[in-house]
Amino acid sequence: MSEIPSKADEEIVLQGTPVSAGIGIAPVHVHGRGFSAPEVYAIGRDGVAEEKARFAAALAKTREQLVELRDRIAAIAGEKDSGIFEAHLMMLEDKAIVDKVEEAIESRGQNAEFALYAVAQNYLEAMRRVPDPYLRERTVDIEDVCQRVLRNFEPEESRAAEPDETHILVAYDLSPSDTAAMNRRHLLGFATELGSANSHTAILARSLGIPAVVGIEGAILQVRALTPSIIDGYSGKLILNPSAETLEHYRRLQGEKERVRDELETMRDAEVVTTDGRGIVLSANIELVDELPLVFQSGAKGVGLYRTEFLLLDGEQMPGEAQQTEIYTRMAAKLNPQPLIIRTLDAGGDKLPVEPLTEPEPNPFLGWRGIRVSIDRPAMFREQLRAILRASAHGKVAVMFPLVSGIGEIRRAKDQLKACMDELAAKDIAFDEEIEMGVMIEVPSAAVIADLIAPEVDFFSIGTNDLVQYTVAVDRVNLHVANLYRPTHPAIVRLIRQTVEAGDAHGIWTGVCGEIAGDVRLTPLLLGLGVQELSVGPHQVPRVRRAIRSLALSECSQLANEASQCALSREILDLSLEMARTHYPELID
Ligand code: PEP
Ligand code: MG
Repeated sequence: MSEIPSKADEEIVLQGTPVSAGIGIAPVHVHGRGFSAPEVYAIGRDGVAEEKARFAAALAKTREQLVELRDRIAAIAGEKDSGIFEAHLMMLEDKAIVDKVEEAIESRGQNAEFALYAVAQNYLEAMRRVPDPYLRERTVDIEDVCQRVLRNFEPEESRAAEPDETHILVAYDLSPSDTAAMNRRHLLGFATELGSANSHTAILARSLGIPAVVGIEGAILQVRALTPSIIDGYSGKLILNPSAETLEHYRRLQGEKERVRDELETMRDAEVVTTDGRGIVLSANIELVDELPLVFQSGAKGVGLYRTEFLLLDGEQMPGEAQQTEIYTRMAAKLNPQPLIIRTLDAGGDKLPVEPLTEPEPNPFLGWRGIRVSIDRPAMFREQLRAILRASAHGKVAVMFPLVSGIGEIRRAKDQLKACMDELAAKDIAFDEEIEMGVMIEVPSAAVIADLIAPEVDFFSIGTNDLVQYTVAVDRVNLHVANLYRPTHPAIVRLIRQTVEAGDAHGIWTGVCGEIAGDVRLTPLLLGLGVQELSVGPHQVPRVRRAIRSLALSECSQLANEASQCALSREILDLSLEMARTHYPELID
């Protein structure tokens, strides 16, 4: 007799927004808030001792696994990535929680799993109400540990997959620190209910090459842990219980994409030049020091944007001058003679705060972020500048300031840089006296006065993620207005053109380091607008290299002229997309 498939085994397709290309096939692992209630049953008076023993055994098994995981990750990725497991071990040993669970077993007369679940939920609810964002973030770790202990109540054979096996993560939301701490070897993709293409979590996923889909409404409710699934980071789907045909389709697609990728990798050392001979600098954006090997693999020409605010992930504060010097020097020396553009701290907004705020800002994106924070905290700013300068003695380092909105800020930042140079010189500490100094053009006011800024700096790097947000007044991480976030808005095209022209007129180079630089649909437009450098996630480098090598600058310039006459974002996108499709259809998803 054939089995009637239960509803739980039917294929379900959940649609979201694709934010990081790629395909992953693996069982689902539910993260954070999604951890569901275990079965509950009465244990009777005699059962208390047995339940306590089951709880102790589950704790012991969890401890063993965490120690093993910590050591393994420390060996593969270093102490930083393994730190998270150390924190989990400490939670496991928190006597207050353990005692509470034991008490709950007795007082409720229910099984140990449910007692643990109830205690944890209570605890988590209290923590979610704490105004301190750091503490609120820790709830995810508690959920992680509880989930692991709950799993360890089950007999081994009933478990299809351990979290340290390959999996696709489904979460309500993920912070950049969650993403950075993930075991990347086993994480084949993630899907979240919140998030957007320009959030830092999505940027990190693209940098690390992890397929990702965001904005799947109700994903957590619809997903059961360990369900077989496929994540399609091209079209934005999470497919649960894929049928045999669906699986076959995706395996084939995965194979094709891998072939294209392998082919692109063979061009790693090919010159990045258009068919009519214009060389373009193609560099990489990085957030974490351990992405450096990816930069080398990609063949990028150095680092065009190092987001130093990600150093805040390791603690609540920026590391001190000595530690920053050590980190920047290591990177600069490894990259030498390729350049390393270090962006000074860009905290605030949707990024981590540099210090806890006494009260939440009414409008963080228009608030205390970027260069404003550095100018207001001169001691911290100077520690970072001195560290950058010290590193400049060991490689080709440049410094870049984020979120500048006017000349005053640039001059203040330059004054601090000069003061740091004098301090180091007085102590006979080596640094590059000719260090290049550039600014991000990501606030419309800066783009509009690019001609006034150009004589003050050595280069421009256009941060389109923020430039689009501020120009069209659309929050870059708000899913509800995501359809209004249009990088090809005519106003953006004008601002880019204006910035490039101002740079050209003053003999300085202009690059783009926002996410559109890695979007090969827009390469014709950006080249046509005269951009001379593109800085993109390491995983996007091979595709962008191929795109540039397939295009003629003369045709792109013509296209950009035509685009400048268009009134609608869609028309501009279509023009660029058409040229991209003609020259490299295999790269257009
Ligand atoms: C940008 O705004 O385009 C940019 C590159 O900076 P970030 O994404 O870090 O704000
Ligand atoms: Mg920015």
